[in-house]
Amino acid sequence: MLKERLEEIYEVVSKDEEIRGVCHNGGALLSLLVSALDDAIVEGCITVTDKGGLMPEVRVAMNKSSLIEGAGGPYGSAAALTGVADAILNYGLWSVALVGTPCQMAGYEKMLDVGRGTHNAHNFSSTVRLRIALFCPGAYSYDKLLKEYIEREHGTPISEITKLDIREDGLHVYAGDKELLHAGMNEIEDYKREGCKICADFTGLFSDISVGHIGSPAGKSTVIIHTDSGKEVFERALEWGYIEAKPINKAGADLIHRLQKEKREAGLAEKARRKK
Ligand code: SF4
Repeated sequence: MLKERLEEIYEVVSKDEEIRGVCHNGGALLSLLVSALDDAIVEGCITVTDKGGLMPEVRVAMNKSSLIEGAGGPYGSAAALTGVADAILNYGLWSVALVGTPCQMAGYEKMLDVGRGTHNAHNFSSTVRLRIALFCPGAYSYDKLLKEYIEREHGTPISEITKLDIREDGLHVYAGDKELLHAGMNEIEDYKREGCKICADFTGLFSDISVGHIGSPAGKSTVIIHTDSGKEVFERALEWGYIEAKPINKAGADLIHRLQKEKREAGLAEKARRKK
């Protein structure tokens, strides 16, 4: 289990124009990954890309252009942990960054715990050198949300959609810069995956660094540092001019803590309800 319990929260923006061009929420994730690659902390990054039609695909990216090409994948719906085996067995990598949802970070932690003392424990524990969690309000069933709700109920063809964004105020659906649809959280609650309704982690407590955009002004990312190794990666990216950062303001920090608390309470309450 993670022993370190740092919690430093920053609002961050990438200093790389190309990255800012594809990541409209500040680009901190990509810049931290590029910095970790350039610093040789990792040889590859396990990320999720959109393989077309908003369908997720787990990919191992080994340079900035692959990261940029795959930016903005629908993370909650992909099995990011399969990328660990792919990176080791198919790419022959010894050091990778794992980017995923809070539950995937917890899953990885459990794999380590269970695997300790077995023949494969060394591979996993020494290969994943950086864990970056993405804030997660919940993942939604692709068929139900896209086909039933967005396409059938609202008449928005999936082929026109370029981006789905779920923020504290609900779902935003875009075609390029144009917003096609906005729906509040309560309107899409029924489309949430069953497992997500008992989830109690919003930021990714089992990661080195969490990244999201809630809590920071538009065009900036929110970054939470949880461990000393996460801090090292973050400080190197600052020092080498990949990112600019300042501590988040109180309102931003309060919002993140409130959402974490609400998700935890709702998840535990639903779990208790199901046990009855
Ligand atoms: S809500 Fe929880 S279980 Fe669902 S994808 Fe997010 S982190 Fe995973």
